Order: sequence, then structure tokens, then C-alpha cells
Amino acid sequence: MSKTVLVSGGAGFIGSHVTVELSQAGYDVVIADNMSNCDETNYKGVCAILGKTLPLIKMDFCDEAAVKALFAKYRFDALIHFAAFKAVGESVAEPLMYYKNNLDSFLNILQAAREHGTNVLFSSSATVYGEPDETPVTEQSPRKPATSPYGNTKQMCEDFLRDCVAAYGMHGIALCYFNPIGAHPSALIGELPRGVPNNLVPFITQTAIGKRECLSIFGNDYPTPDGTCLRDYIDIVDLAKAHVCAVTRMVEGKMDEPYEIFNIGTGRPVSVLELVNSFQKVNALKLNYRFAPRREGDVTAVWADPSLAEKKLGWKATRTVEETLASAWAWEKRLAGK
Ligand code: UDP
Repeated sequence: MSKTVLVSGGAGFIGSHVTVELSQAGYDVVIADNMSNCDETNYKGVCAILGKTLPLIKMDFCDEAAVKALFAKYRFDALIHFAAFKAVGESVAEPLMYYKNNLDSFLNILQAAREHGTNVLFSSSATVYGEPDETPVTEQSPRKPATSPYGNTKQMCEDFLRDCVAAYGMHGIALCYFNPIGAHPSALIGELPRGVPNNLVPFITQTAIGKRECLSIFGNDYPTPDGTCLRDYIDIVDLAKAHVCAVTRMVEGKMDEPYEIFNIGTGRPVSVLELVNSFQKVNALKLNYRFAPRREGDVTAVWADPSLAEKKLGWKATRTVEETLASAWAWEKRLAGK
């Protein structure tokens, strides 16, 4: 009998790609989303890719009664929690909104998972490592004090899960994403930032399509080979596949410890300038960019040591950064009807 997975925030960028991979791996997926930061574009894209309609429950995970009702209706073998606010700058301006939304929703989910014996996968972020003392970053690298309420909610939710696993005999995995970029090869799902994008790749593709005039590269005086920051850009489909491996590990009872953390990245540092140059080359276009002052809160260099994920999850990134940047551009062009 196939297993059922709840994907909270499944209509968003990462959730939609994970839904496709889970479904193609044979899982039944129920998407639940309050649609606060997306429309139905990605949901419709998911159904088109899969050739079937998946359940989409429009609900808010801060609503305890709605969460209870959801778990009464379905029997989930595992859940993946994506539903959260994610804009760093907004979280600095509106910390209470971030704490209330991101913590309340996860507490409600944990309560339900405890009552129903559901395995929990939490979507965490490399932001928990801050400016690392050593690179690449392993799962043993010390967490640094969060530099934003958003980052703080990621750390706190990791701790909530760790403590619930320890106290209630639950099982949980936290996946720490580095920088997810790109889009599905079908160009039917991808990133849909509202307003001016904060992240690099959507800003690049919007500049290339003419929606933005010029990309600002924040800082070219960092102590790195070309002066721009180093990150670990992980392809969104590769990242989605890591979730399938992690869910399978939980539902098949293959975990070594009841709570595990895995870094999900490529292990390759890429500078902002290298990324911009690769985008121009692979898509045969010229991008309008200029160097601008450093952005407050940016760390100089952070990339993953993904060897634990390879060893234990049997997962490894496979797409090249060029393939990923081509997929991001194909998605932007499709959005523009080109
Ligand atoms: N960046 C940039 N211009 C932009 C957006 C981002 O130069 O318009 C740089 C940013 O300074 C960082 C890298 O791109 O070095 C990745 O930033 P992003 O916001 O995508 O992810 P982060 O690593 O901050 O989570």
C-alpha cells in the first residue's frame, strides 16, 4: 500500500518541487497551504507535470482546529513542513509576525504528529550556521547566534523537533538547505517571488528579462578569490530528491538516531560573479550588472560538506550549475510568455 505524505506549504517554490518528486517516487501527497505567499501557478504546474490532480487543502497551520481536522481526515505516514514566512529583512521589521507564524504553525504540527505517530521532516537552512569558522560546513559545525528573527525561527524549530523526538518517541529529520535555485526542467514550476526579489537568481532572471534594470552585486571587496561572496547553490530538483530519500529513511525505519540533521548542498563554493558569468554564458546573453556596497548581514563564504547525506541518505547533487541556471532562465521566459 502506498504511503501518504503531508506537504505543508506545498504550493510554494520548494514544496511544489518536492511534491512532484514524492509523487513520482510512488507516495500519495496531500498539499496544504494558506496561499499567503503564492498563487495557484505552481500547484497547477505540479498537477500538469504529474497528469493528475492532487488534493490541495487551503488552511493555516496556525489554526489549531484546522490542523486537528486535517489529521482526523487523513492518515499521514510522514509530513514535511515548509509553511513559513521566509524574508529575512521583513522578519527584522516584523519579528512578532515571524515568531507567531513560524513557531505557532510548527507547534500545532508537532502536537498533531505526536498524537498520530507521524514522522516529521523540517525544512531548515544553512542560515543556522551563520558566518562559519571553517568551511565546508558539516552537521557538527557549531550553530551561530541567529542574525535575524527568521534565522532564529529556523533554529528554534530545529530545537522543538529535537526535544519532541527525545520526549515523545517521535522520529524527525531536519534538512539544512544551502542556496536552492533553478526550476523544474518542464518549466511548469519554479520560483515566484512577490515584488522585488531578495535572492540572487530571481533578481538575475528578472533583470535579464527586462523587469529590473540592473543587478547590484553586493560587495566586491570580500576576502574571496574575486572579492564577491561564496555560496553553495543547490539545484531545486536535486534538493527535492533529498526529501524523498529522507522521507523513505523515516517511513522504512532506517534511521540511525531518532533525530537526524543533514546538510543539503553540492559541496562546491561558487562566487556571485562566477554565477553571473555562468548565467550569461549558458544562456548566451549579457546581463546588466554593477558592483554595489555590501548588503548588511551577508556572510562572506558558506558551503556544505554534503558527505553525510551521501553516506546515509544515498543522496548526491547531480545537476551542474549551468543546467540549473538554464532551467531558471527557461522558467522566467515562460512566465513572460516568451
Ligand atoms: N546578492 C547580490 N545581489 C542581489 C541578491 C543577492 O549580490 O540582488 C548576493 C548576496 O550578497 C549573497 C548571494 O548573492 O552573497 C546570495 O544571496 P541570496 O539572497 O540569494 O541568498 P543568501 O545566501 O543571502 O541566503
